[in-house]
Amino acid sequence: MNYQQNSKIIKIAGGGIAGLSAAINLKKSGFNPIVFEKNHEVGGNRHGDYEGLENWIFSNPMNIIFNQIGFNFKKITSFPISEFKVHSNFFSPLSIYSKNPFFYMVKRGKNSQDFDSELFKQCKDIGVQFKLGTKAPDDCSIIATGTKKASAYIRGINFKTNLNNQVHLLLGNQFAPKGYAYLIIIDGKGTLASAFKKQKSKDIDIIKTCRTYFKSIGIEIPEGEEFGSRGSFSLPFRNFKLPYLIGEAGGYQDYLFGFGMRMSMLSGLSAALSLVGKEGQALPIIKDINKKRKLSFVNRLLYERLNDRQIASLAKKLAKVEDPLSILSEAYKWNIKNFMRWKNIGKSYEIHIT
Ligand SMILES: Cc1cc2nc3c(=O)[nH]c(=O)nc-3n(C[C@H](O)[C@H](O)[C@H](O)COP(=O)(O)OP(=O)(O)OC[C@H]3O[C@@H](n4cnc5c(N)ncnc54)[C@H](O)[C@@H]3O)c2cc1C
Repeated sequence: MNYQQNSKIIKIAGGGIAGLSAAINLKKSGFNPIVFEKNHEVGGNRHGDYEGLENWIFSNPMNIIFNQIGFNFKKITSFPISEFKVHSNFFSPLSIYSKNPFFYMVKRGKNSQDFDSELFKQCKDIGVQFKLGTKAPDDCSIIATGTKKASAYIRGINFKTNLNNQVHLLLGNQFAPKGYAYLIIIDGKGTLASAFKKQKSKDIDIIKTCRTYFKSIGIEIPEGEEFGSRGSFSLPFRNFKLPYLIGEAGGYQDYLFGFGMRMSMLSGLSAALSLVGKEGQALPIIKDINKKRKLSFVNRLLYERLNDRQIASLAKKLAKVEDPLSILSEAYKWNIKNFMRWKNIGKSYEIHIT
């Protein structure tokens, strides 16, 4: 199909998943997006680690949401995960199951079959222009340059292994202060990582602690390639207007556990729709994301008040119920109970920017 019906150039700063989502939608609407990416490769600042496209903050089927943005989900290598094990000091490892997948795991990075490189390919295939290795100019209509502030950190390793496919979640301060650690092994490739809030002591080797724990239960994690990254837990708000700040640059992030991929991509879609004159379609999407991120912020504040034992008992509850996914979804629904939570707890912490 030829999408070159309109020569209007739209400059996008940042070739992460938010920028790519805006770009493909603009191109398919007949505009001429140019993506400026300061790295020489799209996906070059990702580490080949597994990340999960969650299925509870947003529950529309993945192929529909990707199609709405402009991507073909069938061409993306992803692994649905309907079961994982939870570990804590307070119980023996528990399995949590769901009929529908909790997440679709994708590998983030620049190599073929990686999520970022496939999205990049789909953009290139329809003629989106890229200026790689080029800092964005000042006159971009869309800013998708990722997070600036850091209050949450992720440290991990990627490794090769003969172990079977499996996913584990580790709860407890020793594995991830105010956060969680995870082990994902799919088709011989593994990621062990800890997502935690700023630590008082930088000397604690969190990955070593996780690895020692897994060894004690018979799972030997080999040496691997280390990676580290950061995120933000502050909640910026700004009217959705030109230049459109999308993805983590606009604070479109899940503040509870950092599941920001779908929010980033949907905010990209909204910016594209706004720029092609379809504000009527863009605003409901942004409003919905804003409600969800407000609730994720409240959930984070509540989560931080819990001690390890209380967090463990929440996990135990999830293991017992028939449909754990619906309990997770409930925490992101803009109903009276959650609205009151936002009003009473969240608003006092809200950070505004203009
Ligand atoms: C280790 C880790 C694990 C995660 N796990 C999950 C998960 O399991 N599930 C989930 O949903 N989310 C997860 N997230 C969050 C998710 O990855 C992010 O929310 C999402 O990728 C943000 O996309 P983005 O496009 O907004 O930003 P980014 O991916 O940061 O992209 C921004 C891009 O802009 C470029 N750039 C920056 N400045 C400029 C400039 N001046 N000019 C040109 N280019 C510029 C950067 O090089 C980069 O490529 C995780 C994040 C991390 C770090």
